[in-house]
Amino acid sequence: MAEVTMEKLVALCKARGIIFPGSEIYGGMGNTWDYGPVGVEIKNNIKRAWWKRFVQESENSFGVDAAILMNSRVWEASGHTTSFSDPKMDCKKCKTRHRADTLIEAHSKGAVNPDLMTNDEMEAYIQEHHVNCPNCGNFDWTPIRTFNLMFETSRGVTDENQNRIYLRPETAQGEFVNFLNVQRTTRAKVPFGIAQIGKAFRNEITPGNFIFRTIEFEQMEHQWFCKEGTDGEYYAEFKEKAMRFLLDLGFKAEHLRFRDHDKLAHYARAACDIQYLYPMGWSELNGIHNRTDYDLSRHQEYSGKTLTYVDPIDNSRYIPYVIEYSIGADRLMLAVLAEAYDEETLENGEVRNVLHFHPAIAAYKAAILPLQKNLAPQAKEIWAKLRTRFSVIYDEAGSIGKRYRRQDEIGTPFSLTVDFDTLENGTVTLRDRDTMQQVRLTPDEAISFIEEKIRF
Ligand code: ATP
Repeated sequence: MAEVTMEKLVALCKARGIIFPGSEIYGGMGNTWDYGPVGVEIKNNIKRAWWKRFVQESENSFGVDAAILMNSRVWEASGHTTSFSDPKMDCKKCKTRHRADTLIEAHSKGAVNPDLMTNDEMEAYIQEHHVNCPNCGNFDWTPIRTFNLMFETSRGVTDENQNRIYLRPETAQGEFVNFLNVQRTTRAKVPFGIAQIGKAFRNEITPGNFIFRTIEFEQMEHQWFCKEGTDGEYYAEFKEKAMRFLLDLGFKAEHLRFRDHDKLAHYARAACDIQYLYPMGWSELNGIHNRTDYDLSRHQEYSGKTLTYVDPIDNSRYIPYVIEYSIGADRLMLAVLAEAYDEETLENGEVRNVLHFHPAIAAYKAAILPLQKNLAPQAKEIWAKLRTRFSVIYDEAGSIGKRYRRQDEIGTPFSLTVDFDTLENGTVTLRDRDTMQQVRLTPDEAISFIEEKIRF
């Protein structure tokens, strides 16, 4: 197995229409990325698989799609306006900006946990250990300043009448503020869940590592509302479910690990991340948090509206606890690509690049390849039939070997070759991406076979 590097992934994504640099013809815009024709399909399939697992297959979870722009009081209640910040330091020599916690983590190679330190302690560590600027190598820092990560904008018809509003830095608050709306309209009984997939924005000090940390990204979040006393059990259950989802997507167990948080927010009872072994090392893929009744209590306090749940069985009244499970769609996409990427040397010495991901995630489930151009009419007929069932790509350009390689590179799990036998008996050759084995099937048999394989 060849080593997966970020450079290889970025190059493959650009060459094959998976992900392009943002605003490229204008020289780009740092750390923004555009999903191309293949990438948007893969990302949609990732989001669909998540939604199916956590909403569709759940007895008691419901979706929302809340507004990105919310009343600013939401962010006061959630604490984001005061404490959603990172400790930043500027290098006075090269004028680059860095996170003090990241400098310490990198310098100590993970041995020191900056989450447990105050800003003064971090500054003292950086002085004492003479931590140089990773960009220019000099040691000439400004003091630490806290930097709020929320993107501000304003609304109002005249300049004098402008109100400060924010692009949401997480989707979770749209789920909390709709707690009673969802509960009433679905008549759900606690425990139940609210899920949402949507864009979030953070003015990250040090974005980077391709789509791992960007300033605009998508989150898939699920809040489970439960009664105090049952929260420990549900926290354990969501840890298990979050891990099971990743394993079912095809991740190797040895590439995933739980990491408990050493320092908890004052309101939290427990928190952990699942980390993935990315090309740049172990890093957070998703988080699971026991947030107690903090979120709903704060919104009740700040909005002045009751968010108390009345238990229909014993008439008890309480504010539910929340178990939050949150995963970035782009971070998961990067992990899926890194996990699937392989370079295989074939018997004839040729190297093929292949993405071995789950067929449910693949942009196209099948490729229709006429062996020769004069078989195009028959091939196009089969293409038309198959694409009413799932997404299928058609390719008649170049040798059949080259066309197989192109499909391997974007992870198309099955290629159907239309040849002269197709004219005689109506069958096509179905080639498996992973084993490269071939079988002959009728188009109807191929549809049933593929539909079975793409089920998640
Ligand atoms: P990190 O420590 O990496 O900054 P976080 O702990 O702040 O992440 P959360 O606020 O818990 O992250 O967000 C939930 C999830 O959203 C993360 O696990 C990650 O998958 C995703 N996420 C957070 N920030 C970004 C970002 N800047 N770019 C892409 N995905 C992100």
